[in-house]
Amino acid sequence: KRVPLIAGNWKMNFDHEQAIAFVQKLAWTLKDANHDYDEKGSEVAVFPPFTDLRPVQNLIWSDKLELVYGAQDLSEHDSGAYTGEISGQFLSALHCTYVLVGHSERRTMHNETDEILARKVAAALRHGLVPVLCVGETADDLEQHGPSAVPVAQLRAALADVTGTPDLVIAYEPVWAIGSGLAATPEQAEQVASALRSTLAELLGQEVADATRILYGGSVKSSNIASLMREPNIDGALVGGASLDVTEFASIARFQK
Ligand code: 13P
Repeated sequence: KRVPLIAGNWKMNFDHEQAIAFVQKLAWTLKDANHDYDEKGSEVAVFPPFTDLRPVQNLIWSDKLELVYGAQDLSEHDSGAYTGEISGQFLSALHCTYVLVGHSERRTMHNETDEILARKVAAALRHGLVPVLCVGETADDLEQHGPSAVPVAQLRAALADVTGTPDLVIAYEPVWAIGSGLAATPEQAEQVASALRSTLAELLGQEVADATRILYGGSVKSSNIASLMREPNIDGALVGGASLDVTEFASIARFQK
């Protein structure tokens, strides 16, 4: 019942010309490889840098590509004297579907706290964007607190002020698996995804828990996507490095749950 989502987080890669070439190639590759893609495939999303969003939108719209897009971050504020920040309002005007919130690189390199992230989740929802809330533990957290304590605590904190039946996506990205080549095992990922879903049920009710897609991220490749997607609580992937290679990303995106 949940449509799987395969999302490519480009991080700080591809300028707007490279972005256009990449999205065009991705759409061709997906179409060529699978004629049923439109009917039964996963939803495929790209998360380019801010400066690529407008050209990516233009291409996807003009060529009616079966792709959606989102931004990698947003401001907690709507407008004003916040030099360098990007409002959810602007992303919504570009018809972004999604926005990443709380990627571990933002948490660690830009000091984004749980309190800031709760406000960013609220900002995304206020502007009609679907937040892709990223949670995940470091290797130290794992050793000290076990597998789900930190991701569950991050989820609770980020959703502290959320009520009703919001459209959300959760991405479980263990920090130790990001860019390391060492993905979590399907069993490890499922254990945390299942704990996250139970927490969603407790916070927002069973209906929201059943409807919310929980992605796994961290060294996802075409060679491990199938075993991860076989797990009942894993509804897709947030892909970093492998999302920059058209062939590799297309074979991940083409995988059908
Ligand atoms: P890698 O797929 O490169 O491990 O990165 C994962 C990630 O951070 C996606 O947001």
